[in-house]
Amino acid sequence: MGSQRGPGRGPVVVVADFLGAYSLRLIPGIREVLQARDVPLLVHVNDYFTPGVSRLLRDIVAGGDLRAAIVLPMSKAQSHDDLDELLTAHPHVPAVALGTASGQRPTVRADNRAGMAALVRHVLDEGGAQRTVLVRGVRHHVDSLEREAAVREALAERGLLLEEALVVEGGFSRDVTYDAISALVRAGHRFDAVIALNDEMALAAVDALHDHGLDVPGDVLVTGFDDDEMFHPRCTLTTVSQQLHHQGRRAAELVLELLDGAPPRDVLVETTLVRRSSTARALSGATRVAAPVPAGARLDMVPAGQAAATNAALDMNRAFMSCTSEQDVLRELGSKLPRLQVSRCFVVLHEPGSEERPRERDGRLELVHPGGGTHPGAEDAPRFPVADLLPAGLRHELEHGTLLLQPLGVRGHELGYVLYEQESLLQHTAEVLRMDVSLALDTIARHRELETTVSRRTEQLRREIDVRERAEADLRAANAELRRSLHRDGLTGIANRSAFDEHLAWAWGHHLGDGGELSLLFVDVDCFKLYNDTYGHLRGDAALRAVARAVEASALAQGDLAARFGGEEFAVILPATGPAGALVVAQRMRQEVRRCAIEHRASLVVPWLTISIGIATVRPRAELQPRDLVEAADGAVYAAKAAGRNRAVVASAVPVRLPPR
Ligand code: GH3
Ligand code: MG
Ligand code: MG
Repeated sequence: MGSQRGPGRGPVVVVADFLGAYSLRLIPGIREVLQARDVPLLVHVNDYFTPGVSRLLRDIVAGGDLRAAIVLPMSKAQSHDDLDELLTAHPHVPAVALGTASGQRPTVRADNRAGMAALVRHVLDEGGAQRTVLVRGVRHHVDSLEREAAVREALAERGLLLEEALVVEGGFSRDVTYDAISALVRAGHRFDAVIALNDEMALAAVDALHDHGLDVPGDVLVTGFDDDEMFHPRCTLTTVSQQLHHQGRRAAELVLELLDGAPPRDVLVETTLVRRSSTARALSGATRVAAPVPAGARLDMVPAGQAAATNAALDMNRAFMSCTSEQDVLRELGSKLPRLQVSRCFVVLHEPGSEERPRERDGRLELVHPGGGTHPGAEDAPRFPVADLLPAGLRHELEHGTLLLQPLGVRGHELGYVLYEQESLLQHTAEVLRMDVSLALDTIARHRELETTVSRRTEQLRREIDVRERAEADLRAANAELRRSLHRDGLTGIANRSAFDEHLAWAWGHHLGDGGELSLLFVDVDCFKLYNDTYGHLRGDAALRAVARAVEASALAQGDLAARFGGEEFAVILPATGPAGALVVAQRMRQEVRRCAIEHRASLVVPWLTISIGIATVRPRAELQPRDLVEAADGAVYAAKAAGRNRAVVASAVPVRLPPR
């Protein structure tokens, strides 16, 4: 059906952004006329709080089988502009503007100017008002602008100016108006009339004035606009009847004309002044308002049928608190529908993932009333493009009566929609079905999202920790290896020169403190140049490794360190060891090397490899340096060489270095 591009066979859609006193009087007028011609009606209530038009409306205007549209005023300028743009982009849906001007499409409007002029004449000429407060509606709203212009004109004609300090924003809202009027009174402004641009704001002004001890109409005259029969029980307000029901009828007639091929035209609906007691001073002989309207008077506005529906709504809301799944929510809703006076109801939730395919979003029918009950998350719940609103088997439901269509979701994030019918449209039911169901579904969706996020994040963290732990272990191993390699001699694998220096410094410091003896063996391989010359460098390396092992194996006491000093020279640090002990180690070392029995034919000593050892011992003192000990041991090696090699020689004494003068 998305391919169809002439006027559709489906319903006429009314686009409103709120079901309140105003729209609830227009819609029945529209319905009467359409019903008489068997044309189905769909009322789309856009989300009042979110500027712009719903995705759902975009979907059904673009792809749905709509016959035509009737557009009501939007409370947000952006919603108004977006809607205008949407309808302009889809001329196959002919549209009529009701109570709002688009400039491009046929319009049904009240004659605001005439009505307002009559009202101001009454207030100024008959009521003698001098200083008038004007309570504005919505800034971009054409009705507001026209009514304001008419007020200013009428004042100007009488040589009076509207004081800008006495022009306040009421936003067509009761609470905003109450606060604005209260603020004026508190600030000490003096005025004798309040002209509000609709009835609801006028009644809020009356309440504010009464609450500040002012009498209406004794001190201040108050007027509204609309002649809203919702407020009739109070029957006190002078206002302008703009025949909303009749406006609705005219809009529907205009739509039918367009569908019948008539040329577009605008309709101006007559307005009439309705004099009541809120301007009684201006009425000859009229009774004044007897007493301030009691605070609970607001209850008067609740139509009888609404009380039962309100109770059902409260019950449902309570039950939503303990719902933990979409299915719980829909089951609760399903069970309360009869008490909410809803005769038909369908709830569709968007298929997860269909957000990524904006042109072909799918919905899943989750609730059908009456008869179908709920499909609690059933796998076989019918899926279909949301532009169709209902699956093929239920499309006939769109072809009769009046259905309200409200997107579900909060902050512009649409979770699905509810489509329902109610014999007498009730504002509370509409709000409950949109807001409470939306909030309940949104809470569940968020909760689930949060759970998924937390478990995904936990899993991710666990993996990150694993990786980090492995990396740390690797790093520790690498560091240890680095430290080892920094202190190991590459050829022999025993301690290297830098480890030797470090260890000597440590032993030196240690005995500086305890006054103990520190010995050092200096080991030099005999005739090693000749060995290399005879057997080659590689075998020379192997021989050095064997000697290193022998040297290391000879010094096993705690704190001993055997190191390669350089070339074919080794050094052994023996803490807490005197000359006698050092000599024992030296002899053991010579035996170890002998046991290796490395052939050395060219040796000047014996035909196997031997070592010469110099021994020095010292008690470290402040005036000595570790290198004095090294030099002494080195000197002893020379002595050993000179004495014929293959022996150990003990240095006579470690020389004392004198500091340079
Ligand atoms: P002396 O008995 O007087 O100590 O004679 P010598 O030949 O051992 O002493 P000299 O200092 O003349 O020679 C040391 C030799 O040690 C020279 C060098 O070829 C050898 N040498 C030093 N480092 C290495 C090494 O890492 N590998 C090998 N294969 N030979 C080395
Ligand atoms: Mg040497
Ligand atoms: Mg040597």
